[in-house]
Amino acid sequence: MPETLEQSAGRFDTVLIANRGEIAVRIQRACRELGLKTVAICSEADRQAPYGKTADSFLCIGPSSAAKSYLNQDAILLAARLAGAGAIHPGYGFLSENAAFADAVEKAGLVFIGPTASSIAIMGDKISAKRAMMAAGVPCVPGPDTALPDDPATIERIALEIGYPVIIKAAGGGGGRGMRVVPKADVLHEAIALTREEARKAFGSRSLYMEKFLEHPRHIEIQVICDDHGNAVWLGHRDCSMQRRHQKVVEEAPARGIAPDIIQPVGLACVQACLQIGYRGVGTFEFLYEDGAFYFIEMNTRLQVEHPVTEMTSGVDIVQAQIRAAQGHVLDLIQGDVTCEGHSFECRINAEDPETFLPSAGVVTHLALPAGPGIRVDTHIHAGYKVSPYYDSLIAKLIVHAPTRAEAMARMREALAGTEVEGISTNIPFLRALFEDGAFAQGETDIHYLEQWLKLRRAT
Ligand code: ADP
Repeated sequence: MPETLEQSAGRFDTVLIANRGEIAVRIQRACRELGLKTVAICSEADRQAPYGKTADSFLCIGPSSAAKSYLNQDAILLAARLAGAGAIHPGYGFLSENAAFADAVEKAGLVFIGPTASSIAIMGDKISAKRAMMAAGVPCVPGPDTALPDDPATIERIALEIGYPVIIKAAGGGGGRGMRVVPKADVLHEAIALTREEARKAFGSRSLYMEKFLEHPRHIEIQVICDDHGNAVWLGHRDCSMQRRHQKVVEEAPARGIAPDIIQPVGLACVQACLQIGYRGVGTFEFLYEDGAFYFIEMNTRLQVEHPVTEMTSGVDIVQAQIRAAQGHVLDLIQGDVTCEGHSFECRINAEDPETFLPSAGVVTHLALPAGPGIRVDTHIHAGYKVSPYYDSLIAKLIVHAPTRAEAMARMREALAGTEVEGISTNIPFLRALFEDGAFAQGETDIHYLEQWLKLRRAT
């Protein structure tokens, strides 16, 4: 007789964490608190990683290049077998949204801590994601839910129907790449040709789509968590409008100034969409928000860098909830239990030059981290840690929580003042200046604000 999901609940006791850096520490902590054993992996560059020492097993799976280590599916599966892991947590980035990997993990008889391969595949293609969301009643950015054809006249007609400015996006795009804004008709075909070529090279698919370019939106996202038994809740919203080159720098929860009656139906539509596609685990629906309306842009089918701000305001340990969902447990939360207390900010501390934003590798010679009520630091670094040039420059996340937005801003100023990293360059001076900015304090910011603010700063 096939086992039911309830019978299979708790079906693993050892988790291999297929990631590195701060998120490897974060996931390991959640596993331990759930009484699970952990397997850490590393590349040659990460042999000295502190989370290697605290894991139950620690295996080096390949050379420093991510392609040969953290993206090497066979090596990760072999490590899981050798260490006796029953599940793999992919973290974010690397293989976390790779449907083929999720499939390979399950075929190897292990649990992938994330949604099914088919959910990842639907959401990984931005066109099929948009189609699924439209079908579930989630509001989307105006534009067709089909790929652009090759015929120039049809493309021109679609652009006219949407109305300029439009944005051309790669169906397989990610990480802020594979997008081009088209202000008017005379540059349309050139923009399409350039984006197609970029998409083919970067994402292995020339499939593009077109939508309205919103000129002054905010980036608002909704966190969901679902079990395998048809239960799903949304845990409130975040504002991630502070972006540089489409990359988030500061995030906050809740998104300020959005009336509950405007956001509630959107949250419920996200939950409905999850139930409709049989979604499992945690996920994030990303929206642009302009003039009181929400427009879906994409779904991230994984844990996100900014999940802590929602943890601080909802009191839910999102990583533990994700692992428990993968174990087959029934969600121990109903929508009515979800609350949002106070306000939270997260700053991404990057090893990079605060003026040029060029990555900065080297040894951390001195480190002082802030502490106190409502302050949380998620990091893997310590004094003597060598920041390698091979990976993302994120070295720590500084998270604060306070009763109001103004108090949370003051707390972040204090936390940033108490953070000292020497030996490498970091963006801390830039973050300190940003938290002194009047318009940011007033909340008068959209997705273009940070770039404009940086331009002004350079000019003065
Ligand atoms: P990625 O998967 O590369 O992160 P997204 O679709 O999430 O791409 O978009 C990233 C960012 O690009 C958004 O946060 C926003 O700043 C901008 N963007 C995307 N679509 C639009 C649009 N239709 N209008 C205006 N800005 C957009």
